Amino acid sequence: MEAQKDQAFRSLSTNVGTFSVRDKTFLIPQMNRIGCHLLAAVFQGFGVRAEVMDTYRGLELGKEFTSGKECFPCQVTTGDILHHMAREQERLGEDFDPEEYIYFMPEAGGPCRFGMYNKFQRIVLDSIPGMENLKIGSLTTDNAYSVTGMIEKERATDFRKAAYVSVVVADILDRLLWRIRPYERETGLADALIERAIVDMSEAFRLHAAAKDFDAVLDRLEGFVREGRALMDSTIARKPLIGIVGEIYLRTHTEANQDVIRMLEAYGAEVVNASIAEWVNYTAYDRVREARIGLRKNLRLLRYGQIRAYASKLFSYGLDLLYQQSKQKQAYKRLEPLIDLPGDHKVGHLENVLIENDLFTFEVGTEACLSIAGIMEYMHEGYDGIVNIYPFTCMPSTITSAIAKPMASRFRIPYLDTPCDGTYQPGREAAIRTFMYQAQQHREHALRGEGGDETSLS
Ligand code: SF4
Repeated sequence: MEAQKDQAFRSLSTNVGTFSVRDKTFLIPQMNRIGCHLLAAVFQGFGVRAEVMDTYRGLELGKEFTSGKECFPCQVTTGDILHHMAREQERLGEDFDPEEYIYFMPEAGGPCRFGMYNKFQRIVLDSIPGMENLKIGSLTTDNAYSVTGMIEKERATDFRKAAYVSVVVADILDRLLWRIRPYERETGLADALIERAIVDMSEAFRLHAAAKDFDAVLDRLEGFVREGRALMDSTIARKPLIGIVGEIYLRTHTEANQDVIRMLEAYGAEVVNASIAEWVNYTAYDRVREARIGLRKNLRLLRYGQIRAYASKLFSYGLDLLYQQSKQKQAYKRLEPLIDLPGDHKVGHLENVLIENDLFTFEVGTEACLSIAGIMEYMHEGYDGIVNIYPFTCMPSTITSAIAKPMASRFRIPYLDTPCDGTYQPGREAAIRTFMYQAQQHREHALRGEGGDETSLS
């Protein structure tokens, strides 16, 4: 019995971690559809057999293997991997070997449960005969998603850069879709364009990622932006602008959130969702912030070894952050003359917004830092409503809601919480209809130059 327990615990460290993906099939779970396909293409460009798994088809399995107390994304992703492996077993019969695959499930440190998904899924997989040989490949925010160990050391930096660019390009395609779909000349044109773009941009990353020829990638992207612009009907007046914040998985996984964005659009919205690159930048920014704090503390105590260690971390994470921010800026800047896509908030600026308004702190961590500051920025920029999308019981999003609701009411801006747990929410559509009515009124007041009572946002 003791030996079995030992083995179970050992599996959490020996079968979850950064493993080389060379000669394995690397399974990527879907979060935001575009981003996952582009990331898979980057892996393919570096010679890795990467595949994006179908999503939401194994939800029943996910529910069967969870107790209902886990976060909803954990149920969905558990279902995705179990469903995929079952299908592979069916397809390959006796040739099926779980050891040939690595399942990708990153983690985040900090006071919430994302750090536990891959451990929980390890326990589930270990309970199914044969699946103990399927390794879980994990990257962590603790080192700003370093890929060393997964990709050969000498190519890890290039890979990381290409992967980051794929995240930015996916954000831009998402933002293009949300910018043009509410104004398309004919229903379905914008979606069809983006479907084409996923295939074509994936091809671009497969061809150019390893050589870091990002100009060639952006050239193709520019073509899609031009096409997208041409699909807009210029006689349709600008619609109320709705800013979305929330938990990264739910707000970007259209099946899991029952396509809230499309429903908002159906009731007259133009939507901007917080980006994925914002989270990636945040993880790098937070490592820089921690290194700076550690350096200051050790300088005071004159601990020379620690000073060197923190200075080196500060330098390396600082370089990562600088690279990311400059690549992101460059991509958005290049498209500026073609279409007015909203840019991204700089994470340092978001921290300052929280400090100046004394609302929350980066010391606590989690996405609440980004969501609360992001809401303030949306309000500052004149958005007509805010929607917070998150898994039922999600800790950071519940904190966001507690702080954002009174703030939104004080600044007279419509605000809506949309918790999701996979069940059909009968009141959701009615709530969105009412919310959009308020957002429309907000827009009309703004156009008439009538502000709210509070105007003191810093
Ligand atoms: S962010 Fe929310 S949903 Fe995600 S792990 Fe943390 S508590 Fe769970």
